[in-house]
Amino acid sequence: MRTKQTFISKEQIAEIAQKYPTPFHLYDEKGIREKARALNEAFSWTEKHGGFREYFAVKATPNPHIMRILMEEGCGFDCSSYTELLLSESLGAKCGDIIFSSNQTPDEDFLFAHKLGVHINLDDFTHIEILDKLLEDKGGIPETVFCRYNPGGEFRIRQDSNVMDTPGEAKYGFTKEQLFEGYRLLQSKGAKKFGIHAFLASNTNTNEYYPELARILFETIAELKEQTGISLSYVNLSGGVGVAYRPEETPNNIYAIGQGVQKAFERVLVPAGMGNVAIMSELGRFMLAEHGCLVTRAIREKHIYKEYIGVDACAVNLMRPAIYGAYHHITVAGKENEAAVHKYDIAGGLCENNDKFAIDRMLPKIDMGDFLIIHDTGAHGFSMGYNYNGKLRSAELLLKADGSVKLIRRAETPADYFATLEV
Ligand SMILES: *Cc1c(COP(=O)(O)O)cnc(C)c1O
Repeated sequence: MRTKQTFISKEQIAEIAQKYPTPFHLYDEKGIREKARALNEAFSWTEKHGGFREYFAVKATPNPHIMRILMEEGCGFDCSSYTELLLSESLGAKCGDIIFSSNQTPDEDFLFAHKLGVHINLDDFTHIEILDKLLEDKGGIPETVFCRYNPGGEFRIRQDSNVMDTPGEAKYGFTKEQLFEGYRLLQSKGAKKFGIHAFLASNTNTNEYYPELARILFETIAELKEQTGISLSYVNLSGGVGVAYRPEETPNNIYAIGQGVQKAFERVLVPAGMGNVAIMSELGRFMLAEHGCLVTRAIREKHIYKEYIGVDACAVNLMRPAIYGAYHHITVAGKENEAAVHKYDIAGGLCENNDKFAIDRMLPKIDMGDFLIIHDTGAHGFSMGYNYNGKLRSAELLLKADGSVKLIRRAETPADYFATLEV
């Protein structure tokens, strides 16, 4: 079994905590840059075709300091709301740097996306007419449009029966019929460049997900070209590449994933005369999860029918264990080499019994004041936060490549909680 490493030591945490009290989210600049470089390298084979670009899924970690690092590594942004567009725009991202992949999209969001000139990815067939009407006196349907495809049914990877999801139950995307009709309609309304997008399974722990998805999309657009003469310019593989949250899981290998997509590309698109298609991704979790952690302190211990350790973070700082029963590895800082001989529930202070970061977890003996490092919280961690029970969002800190630590979002105070209230 793999040992899950932390990117921060107890000594470093103790020093940071003197200035920034726990709990806090901490991100690792070096790891983020290395991940982005590995991804770009894994898809560098596209250079002799239509190229590749990662559009980081902003919802995973919507912090401008993190986003700027990714931008410096060549990434664009995948946004799904007005505010995420604003956030991306504030960093100087524009037009082709942003894809707007939203659903149940309000008019003002469409209008703002169009004003910024970003790529719009339509979630539904009916949005074609809606967008056309909205932009009636603004030039109509944009020149470049994406459509989100939902093939329905079940999605399974043959070699890997563990990976299964049910697109047929998902609210997203066009059916295949709607998709083909949609591109025809868009073309008749003046669109000239087209993209396809699909997100069929989340947090996949296999190198086969992207290649299998790519094969489906490549075959679909080859068929589209045959039937309609419409040749697509972009294939957006979206998110869904997972991380190994558990020590017994094998991490995905992005180079194998890139090669798998290349194989499908060469087998399907090149013979179809579509060798110039550009590949896009909208990874969130894969880019950031491993490069962030939630640092919390053991503040209470309780011995009833089970052994509890109470910490100063709670589900508002990291919701995944509470809502999905998700596993997040925990390291007791400074006790990395001690035997895990105590069974604990690690609990936050919400008045909800699902507010537990771990249940029946074997860990070294925890003493009051110990720092607990909750792993893999860099994506869908802080960003899913909320204010239940009047709990406040924590600070976000960046461990810079030079070893220094920078505050990239301060912790909320009660004044923030009251800011939207008329008292
Ligand atoms: C959430 C989301 C992503 C990112 O998903 P990950 O699981 O973080 O990779 C990408 N694209 C869209 C449209 C999404 O909704």
